[in-house]
Amino acid sequence: METLKRTRIADLLKSGNTEWIGKEFCVKGWVRTKRGNKNVAFIALNDGSIIHNIQIVAEVQQFEEELLRLVTTGSCISITGVLVESPGQGQPVELQAKRIEILGPADAETYPLQKKGHSLEFLREIAHLRPRTNTFGAVLRIRHAMAFAIHKYFNDNGFYYIHSPIITGSDAEGAGAMFRVTTLDAKNPPLTEEGKIDYSQDFFGKETNLTVSGQLEAELAALALAQVYTFGPTFRAENSNTPRHLAEFWMIEPEMAFFDIIDDMDLAEDFLKSLIRYALENCADDLDFLNKMYDNELIERLKTIVDSTFVRLTYTEAVKILESSGQDFEFPVGWGTDLQSEHERYLVEKYFTKPVILTDYPKEIKAFYMKQNDDGKTVRAMDVLFPRIGEIIGGSQREENYEKLLNRIHELDIPEKDVWWYLETRKFGSAVHSGFGLGFERLILFVTGMSNIRDVIPFPRTPQNAEF
Ligand code: ATP
Ligand code: MN
Repeated sequence: METLKRTRIADLLKSGNTEWIGKEFCVKGWVRTKRGNKNVAFIALNDGSIIHNIQIVAEVQQFEEELLRLVTTGSCISITGVLVESPGQGQPVELQAKRIEILGPADAETYPLQKKGHSLEFLREIAHLRPRTNTFGAVLRIRHAMAFAIHKYFNDNGFYYIHSPIITGSDAEGAGAMFRVTTLDAKNPPLTEEGKIDYSQDFFGKETNLTVSGQLEAELAALALAQVYTFGPTFRAENSNTPRHLAEFWMIEPEMAFFDIIDDMDLAEDFLKSLIRYALENCADDLDFLNKMYDNELIERLKTIVDSTFVRLTYTEAVKILESSGQDFEFPVGWGTDLQSEHERYLVEKYFTKPVILTDYPKEIKAFYMKQNDDGKTVRAMDVLFPRIGEIIGGSQREENYEKLLNRIHELDIPEKDVWWYLETRKFGSAVHSGFGLGFERLILFVTGMSNIRDVIPFPRTPQNAEF
């Protein structure tokens, strides 16, 4: 038999092409189930191209007994057969097997995904196999679609993709604890005369870390290319074991010259809505599955966001609302304290029942680079708060005034030698500019309706966990 090229199951199921009926195709994939009787075997085959399986029908007497015995849940097989309209329910077409080849058997006794309905906690322990489940297939395809939609959105809107470094020599980003990058001997590092580690002998001749944000570098690029974005991994060595924090996560950071904070908010709102619209239009099968299995308000919620107008108010107004809410919060609220996700979610889910953009936060709880307001107390920050998530975006207008920025750097005791290059952009051709950071996994959490951030990244990095 001549060998046919492999066809993706998605293409067979989605073809809607009646000319394909009666023709021969080759599919390859992983067996989800095999059932049947002594005359006929029904094999549900999935190749990850789509959530649906194709049904393979095999006349038992046409195949060696041993061959069919090796077609077990989890095994990888190749099938050549004729595409026919399916008399059964649940699928428009099926494949009548002519040739079966076992590509990789899977021992039925020990394959961990023998049955359906494993808990998400259990699946985290077998992160090497969980992409074979419907749930993770759906999540990973949606994750891909969102990454693509992000690049498309920016490309369509005149932004340039900037690759900011992953290893950084600056620890002034101030977004959290960092992971050190070093080639020094951990047991016996070289020491200075004062007994401190001598980083001048380290690989880069100075102390280096994994980046917590690409923003500062994106700003440099924005003050040359006007509209740029980064999309890369970021790292935070905080011991926060929550369903919304990872030690390694991906962040999207647009940065725009000539944008003030209003333009920044307009962009953030339009960006989020178009990403969600893209998911609704392009990930319908996977969303239907997740809506059915995990969260039957998911699709409705996504549609509501696309059609809503985000509420905009100041931090000060939000604190007033929270103080008079009569809610029994775990963390106290008061002007000057950082909002916790319970506060953010109260505003979004209970008070406004819409996404909320909070602005003008106290300068003490925000980073040094944010544009200072004339009141001397607040900065032009903006956080976008989402239902179920809390903060999904954090952004601001940046301080473009050299003197003001320098004063703030002094006030916070940031060594000037660490940020001289950043300061220079305010010396040479400075401009009003703004930007924000969107946590990619928080977006995926929202779009998939999953509840734990560990379930929306293939290999989550969290405290005490880097097995896979
Ligand atoms: P949070 O207060 O929720 O810890 P943050 O204010 O420290 O977040 P930013 O420094 O503003 O976070 O980062 C920008 C965005 O990156 C956040 O709005 C969020 O979407 C995402 N993000 C921040 N930290 C994490 C993390 N540890 N894991 C996953 N996403 C994160
Ligand atoms: Mn933030």
